[in-house]
Amino acid sequence: MFDDTAQGGMDNLGANEESLRMVSANAIGNEPVSDEELRPHILDGFIGQPRLKAQLQLFLDAARKREVPPDHILLAGPPGLGKTTLAMIVANELGVPIRVTSGPAIQHAGDLASILSSLDAGEVLFIDEIHRLPRAAEELLYIAMEDFRVDVMVGKGPGASSIPLTLPRFTVIGATTREGMLPSPLRARFGFTAHLDFYPDDELEKLIERSAAVLSLPLAPGSSAQLARRSRGTPRIANRLLRRVRDWAVVHDLEQVEPDDVKEALALYQIDTEGLDRLDMAVLNALIRNFNGGPVGLNNLSAMVGEEAETVETVCEPYLVREGFMMRTPKGRVATARAWEHLGLVPADDAAGDVSKLF
Ligand code: ADP
Repeated sequence: MFDDTAQGGMDNLGANEESLRMVSANAIGNEPVSDEELRPHILDGFIGQPRLKAQLQLFLDAARKREVPPDHILLAGPPGLGKTTLAMIVANELGVPIRVTSGPAIQHAGDLASILSSLDAGEVLFIDEIHRLPRAAEELLYIAMEDFRVDVMVGKGPGASSIPLTLPRFTVIGATTREGMLPSPLRARFGFTAHLDFYPDDELEKLIERSAAVLSLPLAPGSSAQLARRSRGTPRIANRLLRRVRDWAVVHDLEQVEPDDVKEALALYQIDTEGLDRLDMAVLNALIRNFNGGPVGLNNLSAMVGEEAETVETVCEPYLVREGFMMRTPKGRVATARAWEHLGLVPADDAAGDVSKLF
């Protein structure tokens, strides 16, 4: 059936294939370390998302004036758009330490209880992938967020009792790629929820220019635009492509990176002008050349490409659909006119026909 839940998220499905892709929005290799050097530390350095920034600025200013830790914050949106960066910025702007953990890292409620009971007053607790917390930990977190209390179990079996432990006030910042998977009681504990959107090309250009300055890589006019177009609206991808272009510049002893260098360097990685990689192109080629533009079922399409259906569905389709290369209809996948054009073809007369009949 037609399913939208794959949009943006990559939990387990196709994770291996995803981790090999230059255009993956998830961190790959040692990127968690190299991401650090490109992270802005103050809200002013955070590029784009102007409305979110203005809201957050007001929220932080009010907390500072009232001299209390701000309410809990939920950051929702696809991977690579700046959720971790924003959490670090909030702690930095408030001048408080930040403790970092994640849903999958907390296996038992007790793990979370020991983190909570060691927090200092005002500290920020960042919980990445908060939708993946175990149920018992979630319940412990509700109470801690609302009443600033954890109930510590003492003893075992029928004689066990719980001792309430009062916590200092602190701020939870939760990040999630699947807001819909958060139970509503947990969602309701956040006083401020921010949704991060994909970045338009002009914002990505600024971000790339900022990162290039941090990496001491001179870009000629037009180079950041070439990179932005291929970055799929995602800062993490933009920074990754920029690092590969830096490799190119180092190896070729370039004093300045020209737009043609960007094109050549990224063509080497089979990333085309629209940010489509080898797998995306294989899917579009199969859809158009083998199935006349569709509609075709996911299984047939994936078999033609030689990939698992899950990989095609979670790794390729979200971007192809978002960018208007493909539609997912109840009758199957359909190539749009944009996809035909991108392959340099004219839609066949009998291709897909009246799209409204497919829904
Ligand atoms: P997420 O937590 O949403 O997966 P991150 O915060 O780890 O994403 O961001 C990935 C990379 O992109 C980091 O190197 C970060 O510095 C950079 N980045 C993300 N958003 C921005 C932004 N708005 N301005 C500047 N750099 C950004």
